[in-house]
Amino acid sequence: MSLRYYSTNRNLENVAGVSTFTGSVSFKEALLTGQAPDEGLFMPDSIPRISLSDIRKLNGKPYWYAALLVARAFLSAEFSDEILENVVRDAYTFSVPLEKVYPEVYLMRLDQGPTASFKDFAARMMARLMSHCRRPGGRINILVATSGDTGSAVGEAFKGVAGIDVTILYPEKEVSPRQKKQLDTIGQNIKSISVDGKFDDCQNLVKQAFADEELSKFNLSSANSINFGRIMPQIVYYIYAYAQLAHEDEEIVFSVPSGNFGNALGCEYARRMGLPVAKLVMPTNENDEFPIFLATGKYQKVSPSRACISNAMNVGHPSNLARFFELYGGTVDRSGNVHRYPDLEKMRKHVYSVSVSDKLTRETIKAVYEQYKIVLEPHGAVGWAGLQAYRKECADAKLAVCLETAHPAKFPEEIHNLLGLNLEAPQSLKDIDGRAGSTMNMTKNYADFKKYLQANLINKE
Ligand SMILES: *Cc1c(COP(=O)(O)O)cnc(C)c1O
Repeated sequence: MSLRYYSTNRNLENVAGVSTFTGSVSFKEALLTGQAPDEGLFMPDSIPRISLSDIRKLNGKPYWYAALLVARAFLSAEFSDEILENVVRDAYTFSVPLEKVYPEVYLMRLDQGPTASFKDFAARMMARLMSHCRRPGGRINILVATSGDTGSAVGEAFKGVAGIDVTILYPEKEVSPRQKKQLDTIGQNIKSISVDGKFDDCQNLVKQAFADEELSKFNLSSANSINFGRIMPQIVYYIYAYAQLAHEDEEIVFSVPSGNFGNALGCEYARRMGLPVAKLVMPTNENDEFPIFLATGKYQKVSPSRACISNAMNVGHPSNLARFFELYGGTVDRSGNVHRYPDLEKMRKHVYSVSVSDKLTRETIKAVYEQYKIVLEPHGAVGWAGLQAYRKECADAKLAVCLETAHPAKFPEEIHNLLGLNLEAPQSLKDIDGRAGSTMNMTKNYADFKKYLQANLINKE
């Protein structure tokens, strides 16, 4: 039976400017449109189960076996088994190290992909699935506005993928020289544009293009982080880690450093699919709206968001909170207004959260290096500090895995200041220095952008 996807906003009434979408769509439609017409997030109408015996069979197997198990559970009604196997084998060509830190406590390094961030996992699978959603002979044009890392993860993920072209817009003055080089030199079917403006200007250009009838022939699509096609692949590594580490049917704790909550949502779904997750630990940086909510039952977004050294988690109202609330019977909209509160007791049973300051993040990087000779970067350190807080508070000695979401070499100054180390960059990042490419500049005028798209995009193979 085929899963259908509905909008988290379907129960909203009388909200200005929103006309609720009460229908449902297929996975392919959810993948290509990204967001529901009422600006809600798509959710599957039921969650498939997988058996513990199927999970245990993944022990000792390459990562893509786990990805295939999850992909089949969600997608077998819409994609052939052959396509699914090709997608996951092609997407996951890098390792997923599980490092033992001390007995029963592990670090899962999700930093071995092309941009050395866990976002590679989701983006690569999504890109390949999209390639199989085209009309025969048709092309899809992805537009992405980025302030840095997401754009490169998406760009690298779509590189060389059949039938899809990607145009990335980034704000000229808001990306680091390294990020700029990375974005400008991906090559092949990936083009980047340096916009004389801010991130919001880039986002506006993309929004206007999506709304422009004259461009509809180009099959424009997005690849942003709220796409369910990026959540589903993030279920896989929890199942993979469990299969490699757990004895019999023991329970496991995961600590997931969290910003927009997409990664943690993968763990929440894994548990609901049947994985014996005792606790999902979701530490945040100083953007503490969620830990405060769990403690007090009142939700108040942090606005503007606070700038911390774990900068990919500087989020004052996590976009995927709407999905978490929905799973626990609540509704929150894009602006952070709560229309119905979720079941707090139930949420507390499964989820633990704590805010980790920059000070504690730095202390953690130092302490973990001194004690175990293991190098964490700021996001992973937030995860580690959160796990320690949880284990202390709850006297829990269960099997635990902390996710390291980026490679420490992406934070050379911070690591050098704290540990005195000059880390060697992984090969994928080193390769960027030797890549050639030129910058394409543009104003923030929509007319210029439209002219560029009309001259450069194609809609057929
Ligand atoms: C995006 C990101 C996060 C946060 O993940 P969410 O899914 O947004 O919670 C954590 N660490 C790194 C390195 C990231 O790039």
